[in-house]
Amino acid sequence: MSNLKEKRIKKLKKKRIWPSMVGLCLILFALVIVVVAILEMYFADLIDKKLYDSYKLSNKVTEYMFSHDVHSVSEEELNGFIEISDIIDSVVVCDSNNEIIWSNCDITPDINAVGKYYGVYEDELGLIIQEDENNLFKISKGYMYVAEGFINILFDKNTFLGITENYDKRDVPLISAKIWNVISYEDYTVLVLSDIYITTNDLIIVYLILVMMLLLTIVFAIYYVCSIIGIARSQKRITKLLYTDMVTGGYNWLYFTRKGSKLLKRNRGRFNYAMIKLRMEKYNSFCTCFGVREGEELIEKFYLALKKNIKKKEFMAHNEQADFGLLLIYDTIEELERRIIDIEKSLNNILPNIKMYFSAGVCIIDNNDRDVNSLYNNAAIARDMLGEDADNKIAFFDIEMNKQQLWERKVENEMEKALVKKEFKLYLQPKYSTKEESLAGAEALVRWIHPEEGFIPPNKFIPIFEKNGFILQLDDYMLEQVAMQQAKWIEEGKDVFPISVNVSRAHFTREDLAEHICKIVDKYNVPHNVIELELTESAFFDDKPVLIRTVKALRDYGFIVSMDDFGAGYSSLNSLKELSIDVLKIDADFFRGADSVDRGMLIVSEVIDLAKKLDMKIVAEGIESREQVDFLTQQECDLIQGYYFAKPMPVEEFEEKYN
Ligand code: C2E
Ligand code: CA
Ligand code: CA
Repeated sequence: MSNLKEKRIKKLKKKRIWPSMVGLCLILFALVIVVVAILEMYFADLIDKKLYDSYKLSNKVTEYMFSHDVHSVSEEELNGFIEISDIIDSVVVCDSNNEIIWSNCDITPDINAVGKYYGVYEDELGLIIQEDENNLFKISKGYMYVAEGFINILFDKNTFLGITENYDKRDVPLISAKIWNVISYEDYTVLVLSDIYITTNDLIIVYLILVMMLLLTIVFAIYYVCSIIGIARSQKRITKLLYTDMVTGGYNWLYFTRKGSKLLKRNRGRFNYAMIKLRMEKYNSFCTCFGVREGEELIEKFYLALKKNIKKKEFMAHNEQADFGLLLIYDTIEELERRIIDIEKSLNNILPNIKMYFSAGVCIIDNNDRDVNSLYNNAAIARDMLGEDADNKIAFFDIEMNKQQLWERKVENEMEKALVKKEFKLYLQPKYSTKEESLAGAEALVRWIHPEEGFIPPNKFIPIFEKNGFILQLDDYMLEQVAMQQAKWIEEGKDVFPISVNVSRAHFTREDLAEHICKIVDKYNVPHNVIELELTESAFFDDKPVLIRTVKALRDYGFIVSMDDFGAGYSSLNSLKELSIDVLKIDADFFRGADSVDRGMLIVSEVIDLAKKLDMKIVAEGIESREQVDFLTQQECDLIQGYYFAKPMPVEEFEEKYN
């Protein structure tokens, strides 16, 4: 898969959940910070107020004590005064020597500490807040500590001194702290132990804020969770769509290539894998007969049937049209072949009344092969080697096939340029008469003189041209070369013999072939009887009426028409009955192979006999020995073409040899 495609898919699948998650976390974090800040500010203010109240009361107590004679103030009097407030707990008055001169407290505070510390001082009862010439800021330091303490309480209730807790009743202190207010009065020091209470009433606003924040958090959380679920769902849908095959509804090719690569990567030689391209033949004809929808339904059924045939750690997907890719595990090649045949059988059972044909290309996977697409391509190359009419056949890929494919691509890329640059050269192979054993004709054969590859024989490119249709242009070119050559020789006053050109079966799709050939030859004013047209017998099977009409027209125009390769492949004597032909070229195969020589010779003599009776001339091809020549002469074969007399040669050599 291309990098660009890979990137696009990644982008599509990118997890967009993360931004939402991060957003949610940030909002929750911000809410916590806001709540903590508000609470801290609120508590700081609250405690500040409480401390200030207690300080003011402590001052009042001091004033009260010294407005009377300190020594004579009774505990009851003070209690009476103190009872107006539940803040003041006890009072200790010290003289300038820090000697207690008055106290209603059970415990003696650490008087020595007073004055030493500037700010907060802690003893066993609580906090001592030293007053510094009415500088309340010093007290503020204390409440900072208390506020800090309160926050500590939220986490650890035991860290704060003198805390009493009661969560059951409202108005009962939630938190109380005992604080020593230290007031200097002339030479005296008054220590007032105050209770600082925080009640539920004080916290009502805090509760309100907390509830609001909680509600806000819940709303945000719900919103974000919903959007995260939404994104996750749509992502799942996108992924599903991305990996779904529209015809079968199963996994598609993209998923197959990705999952297949992973499967092969993780395999590490544990199993033997093979990539199979399985094709239902003539799927398009099926669609023409039964409809495209029915065709697609059939593919869906194939998919389901294939799924049943697939084992664990195997994989398959629909590729295109009626092609499937299968990644199968095998033990032996024979077992793999049997399995493919069984799979094909199971597919054939889907429509019992219709005989379906399948073909398969197999690529055995090496441990290092992981690119599913190129493996499938190899399997496809193997499958293509079977040709179009492959029925229930299996072909295995080998590296030579790959080379052949590369070669085909190269040929196709260069053929047109080569024609323009005249890289295709006319070679002539002489035909000798048996009677005089002298030149009596020639066959025009093409050679590609490639600037880099050098000499390329026709069997390396003619079959490719026949497949892609370029043969039409090449044959026209060769015919023109021959016509030109004959015209030149005629003009030079030389003896000319018929030269035959090959007419590929692909030409017989055009109705005006005879006129077309005529036009090319007539450009050079060459008598038609020096041009021979070699048709292959196989053309007879394509479009019989066109062939018959064309042959008749060509003969009427005065061309010589011969049947090439007679006896090779699907030979049919019937063709001789229906076609009036001038020359019969007996295929070289009759003269090959030691075992069948006698039988071959017998047939040759019969064919010669038959052709004679049909008033045809006989040319024997591929004659390499004197014995063959003698035999053919004896059988009254007219002409011989073969290496025994001469190989195909460039025109210049031909001219030199026969002048
Ligand atoms: P073909 O038309 O049957 O041509 C005869 C082939 O047999 C030639 O091969 C020739 O070189 C070869 N041959 C002749 N005598 C002997 C012999 O004694 N022994 C052996 N072993 N071979 C012999 P070539 O030139 O390689 O051509 C192969 C085929 O390529 C031709 O078979 C023909 O089908 C095709 N071809 C060549 N040129 C053209 C062309 O211009 N147009 C078309 N359509 N096909 C062509
Ligand atoms: Ca020929
Ligand atoms: Ca031939």
